[in-house]
Amino acid sequence: MYHSGKVGSMNQAEAIEMALDHFAKLLEEQLKRVDQMKAGEDWADYSKIKPIVVGVVGGDGIGPYITKEAVRVLEYVLQKEIAEGKVQLKDIKGLTIEERAKAMKALPEDVLAALKECHVILKGPLTTPKKGDPWPNLESANVSMRRELDLFANVRPVKVPEQGIDWIFYRENTEGEYVLGSKGFNVTEDLAVDFKIITTQGAERIVRLAFEYAKKNGIKRVSAVTKANVIKTTDGKFLETARRVAKDYPDIQFDDWFVDIMAAKLVDEKRRKDFKVIVLPNLYGDILTDEAAEFQGGVGTAGSANIGKRYAMFEAIHGSAPRMVQEGRAPYADPSSIMRAAVMLLRHIGFVDQAQKYEMALDVCGQFEKKVALTGRSDGATGAKFADYVMETIRSPDLEKKWRSYQRG
Ligand code: NAD
Repeated sequence: MYHSGKVGSMNQAEAIEMALDHFAKLLEEQLKRVDQMKAGEDWADYSKIKPIVVGVVGGDGIGPYITKEAVRVLEYVLQKEIAEGKVQLKDIKGLTIEERAKAMKALPEDVLAALKECHVILKGPLTTPKKGDPWPNLESANVSMRRELDLFANVRPVKVPEQGIDWIFYRENTEGEYVLGSKGFNVTEDLAVDFKIITTQGAERIVRLAFEYAKKNGIKRVSAVTKANVIKTTDGKFLETARRVAKDYPDIQFDDWFVDIMAAKLVDEKRRKDFKVIVLPNLYGDILTDEAAEFQGGVGTAGSANIGKRYAMFEAIHGSAPRMVQEGRAPYADPSSIMRAAVMLLRHIGFVDQAQKYEMALDVCGQFEKKVALTGRSDGATGAKFADYVMETIRSPDLEKKWRSYQRG
């Protein structure tokens, strides 16, 4: 690495030589990753797996409280499938911050082994130690889990039913600018270089995932976002791959947008309702999902998924809210976000009808009818009461009629 202190001792040719060495190492690592992806497994086919094992991780803080309620509703909508042995729920222990600190590992080996025995995971929030916390400074268990289980897609739905917004973002999670974000290079004191990577395999697996979601859920449009007019090589590859994959889905309309125009279109009230599934490289995904989330009120309105070919993990978008636990308010935590993650899990493993019912009930209970109010405090309902309300709503014979009556347009 070039250090400013060495200015006098290093000429330009030497600086370039060092940069080339650094670059060569990065290329070797990335080509190895490409080989691994090429040799990688096929997509899990849940229609052929029996039982589908759903691992449940309660997590830290309010995690066990909200996860328990999400699971109660999950078990309710899957009663038949569980009774028939098609689905099995498995409690995964050992991932609380106390246990991780004891093992001095972000993801203790026995827990990783237990996670790998599951097909999909519903996960409560996990505390990541920060400076000043009473815990050792361990890596984020979430980051570790994404890497160990190769969860390359971050999937974030954004729904604002009263405005007709129903988007789902497929953000690539292992490439782009971020994967080598800490491996940039100061060639000289004045010249800094970072690296952006897109591989054919990495682009193809995320684009295909987005199209498969559209196909499974009867959605007729997929939009890709790049800046391929300027970032011609890497974004060009992403776009070219998306166009090629789109040909395998002739019933789904495919279009592509530049990230700046898309950022504008998402605030265009006339046009934004038309977008459905949006697939994009890492950096654009990070920015646009934050922009999109601004339209959506509160933590209760979305869950999040991290998807790989073999494993998938579904979680709330918020954290473990330790203060709520310290103040004795954990039973009053809102379980909606992890419930929405459970809906995503159901869709992912192919139980679309059950997912639909669970989701319609969440919309009715949390966004429209609101007979049970959650305030996060004892002046509001408990998460358990809210879960009872959701199940009662699912049972109601006119759930769909009620849900439709709340939809705009
Ligand atoms: P947080 O989301 O846990 O809490 C922020 C505030 O939001 C809370 O004080 C609470 O008032 C409110 N809140 C959050 N969820 C709620 C719910 N379900 N019901 C009612 N109110 C709710 O954010 P934070 O304080 O920044 O993070 C706490 C811990 O969670 C940190 O250790 C962080 O690393 C971790 N975290 C984990 C994940 C994850 O596991 N994916 C995500 C984000 C944060």
